[in-house]
This record gives sequence, C-alpha cells and structure tokens, in this order.
Amino acid sequence: MALDTRTHSSPQKRPLDSSLHPEAYAAELRRFTARTGRSRAEWERARQYLPSGVCSNFRLMEPGPLFLHRARASRVEDVDGNSYVDWGMAQSTLLAGHAHPAVLDAVRRQIENGTMTCYPHPRTADVAEIACGRFRLDQVRFVNTGAEATMYALRVARGATGRDAILKFDIGYHGGSAEFWKGKAVVPLPPGAPAWLGQEVFSAGVPRSFLDETVVASYNHLDSVEDCFRRHPGRIAAIILEPVVFNLGICLPREGFLQGLRDICDREGAVLIFDEVKMGCKLGPLGAGEHFGVRPDLVCMAKSIGGGFPIGLFGGRRELMQVIETANVQHVGTYAANHVSLAAAHATLTEVLTPENYRRIFALNEALAAGYRDIIQRTGVDAQVVTIGACGCLFMTRARVDDRMSYARSRTNAWLRFWVGMANRGILPQSFGPEDIWTVSVQHTDEDIDATLRAFREVAPMLA
Ligand code: PMP
Repeated sequence: MALDTRTHSSPQKRPLDSSLHPEAYAAELRRFTARTGRSRAEWERARQYLPSGVCSNFRLMEPGPLFLHRARASRVEDVDGNSYVDWGMAQSTLLAGHAHPAVLDAVRRQIENGTMTCYPHPRTADVAEIACGRFRLDQVRFVNTGAEATMYALRVARGATGRDAILKFDIGYHGGSAEFWKGKAVVPLPPGAPAWLGQEVFSAGVPRSFLDETVVASYNHLDSVEDCFRRHPGRIAAIILEPVVFNLGICLPREGFLQGLRDICDREGAVLIFDEVKMGCKLGPLGAGEHFGVRPDLVCMAKSIGGGFPIGLFGGRRELMQVIETANVQHVGTYAANHVSLAAAHATLTEVLTPENYRRIFALNEALAAGYRDIIQRTGVDAQVVTIGACGCLFMTRARVDDRMSYARSRTNAWLRFWVGMANRGILPQSFGPEDIWTVSVQHTDEDIDATLRAFREVAPMLA
C-alpha cells in the first residue's frame, strides 16, 4: 500500500534551537533520560501494539511520553516513581483537579445504581437545566467528547440554514472531524517555526470534498472573514471558533473582533458557534458570550464540565436546536448522557465550580503569572506570560502573539528546554507542547506555585 505523504506526519515534531546553551540542555536531557527509564520501556512495549505507542497523536511528545499511573489533586506520578505538580491538567480538562472527592463520591453513588441504561435518567434534565442557566442556552444535547460537540453543532447549523460550507480559522482546534483539519498555507514560514503551521491540510485521509466545504479565515482579521463571505456568497452555514484561542498558547481576541463576527453572521444569515470545549468554565461560571458581551447562536462545551469524566454538550438558541426535533437533524449516541458522566458533571457544576473556588483559582493564577514574569524580567529571557481566567501560557517572545504569524515568529523551538528543565525538577508546566497552556485547578495550592517558581528560577537562564 502506498502511503500518502502529502500531509504532515506529526504536529509534535519540531526542530530544536541548538544554538541555546547546548551543553546545559544536553545535561538536562541526560538527567531526564536517567529519571524516566520505565516510561521509555513502557513506550517501547506500547509501540508494538499501538501506532506510535499512544492513543492520541498529541501525546507523542519529545523526548518521549511520560507514562503516568497515579493522579491526585494537583499531582501526578510516573511509573518511575517521580512525582510532579501538574499544570497541564489533562489538556485543561481538570479545572476540578485530579480525582476531586466530591466528583468521586457522586460517581461512586451512581455506579452502585448502574453505569448506563440508554434510557433517560431524571438527572439528564437536572444537568441540562444547570448548563442552560450557566451558559445562557435555551436547549442542549449531551455528548461524550469535544469532537462530538463540534461535529453536531455543525450539523445543526447546516440543517437549520440548508447550507454546506463552514468557516473556521487558521488557528484554533475543534477535534477530529474531517473538515477541521484544514488550515492556511504560510509561505515562507519564519525560520524555526513548526512545519505544521505552514501546511494547508493537517491530516491525510480527509476527503477533498470535505475540505472543499471548509473555508479558512485568519483569526483576529475581520477583513479575511469578509473576504471569505464575498468569495462564497450564500454558501457558509456557520462560523466556528474558539473565542479565545486556547490551542496556540492563549491568543486573545482583538477589540471588536467577536462583535464583528456577530455582525457578519447576522448580515449573512450564518450561525455563530463558540467552541468552548477547552476554555469553557475557565473564565468564570458563565460562558464566553457573557464574558465578552457577544451572544453566540450555538456553544460547544466538554472537558471542565465533567470533572474528569467524558461528557460534552452542544446547545444554544431554541429555534436552532429544534431542528433535531422537527427537521430530521439526527443526533444519536450510545454513551450520550450516560449516568456516570452525568453524575460527575452534576457534582462538578454544583459543588466544585463554585464562586469561592473561582476566586481562589484566579488569585492563584495571578500569583503564578506574577512569579513567572518577575523571573523573566530578572533573567532577561525573551519570553512573556499571557493569562486569562484559570489559564496561562509562556510564549517564547516578548512581541505580542495574537494571530498565526505572530505565533510562528515566536521561539517555539526553545519551549522544549522549558518543559524538560521543569519536568526534571518535578513540575509539568503545561501539557505537551508550546501550543498548550497551563490550568490552575481547584486543588492547586500556594506550595505548588512556590515549587514551580523555584524550578523556573533554575531553568530560565537556559532560555535566555
Ligand atoms: N474543541 C476544542 C477547542 C478543543 O480544545 C478540543 C480538544 N482539545 C476539542 C474541540 C476536541 O475535544 P475532544 O478531544 O474531547 O474530542
């Protein structure tokens, strides 16, 4: 079988900047290798049975994935017995922290009464009512993952408008559905930038016909959105975006950008979809629409609402969601609204994500960011910290980063030094790559921040 190699192989492969303190970094890599022998052995074993030895390509990070076997509160432990403060929090899923006692209690109680029946449970409407209240939605449907939420939101938008095309942005991520794996080619790419940023199609195996229905605009550039609508009059069913891009560090919307999208959708009869799968619940109890004062038509949530169990939702305006009831738009799923995930979501939304916990999280995030900034300033590292709500990221540049080209110009190839250096000191500072972010959970502590900043003081000079 001939392999189609037109598209990129792995988003995690990136060139390393070898000009930066090569000896110090070589020593860090040796230290990492010595500490993580069992992880490497597990990886070797896993590769016999699993492509790349992992079950999501994002987990295939250099210098080899850590295999973790325990996670509690703010900490995780790898199979070599190393303990880490975890700021990645399962790719920003665990705003509740690992194994939150209230979530586990609710799940234990439910498990005694069955895990799923595929019949409706009264708690389905309870959680739907809570979600509708919090996120200002008229109706929702539950799913299991973020990818399902975005896939069905598109189906509702297409069913309601009778149009096929969708508009997405060059940055942002929406899960595994075929049409989302299209970007915008950048030629030429700035030196050292990850190759995937320059590619038009991010995965092989996506039918051309899907890509033909995907129109790609530039995030934070309203003129490029206008241009797309001009080129595809009457064809675009929806604009889908992360209102704050949480999948390329943190890229904040420029003043007027979200309102501009709202106005364009109103004018063009298109549906505005906020994909809050990752950022959902991170800015406070309400949704991004309330935070930014721009009302989307449909919203996708997952991750944080489940407290560590698989659940997502899509929902929004009643007349749109009603196409499921009245216009033969099909939404189905064996595990949708399973009783365990619903119990976890109920406990998370009512007992964990409380106003006082939000106050704590935001204060901790401020303290963490202030500590990082202070060290960056003292060491003169060409880097900056960007935060919003419960999350933050370290960009390897002092220049503003809020679109794809500004990100491409940042020193992404220095990021791995940061991660390896911190991991050697018992800190997982973000998830798997420079595109990822940190999340302060309900269970992080002042001590976690102290430990993180102690580590960063030692690592920062290697980044300067
Ligand atoms: N949308 C966004 C914004 C995401 O960040 C993600 C996952 N990181 C998804 C959709 C897909 O979610 P899942 O991995 O649960 O399918």
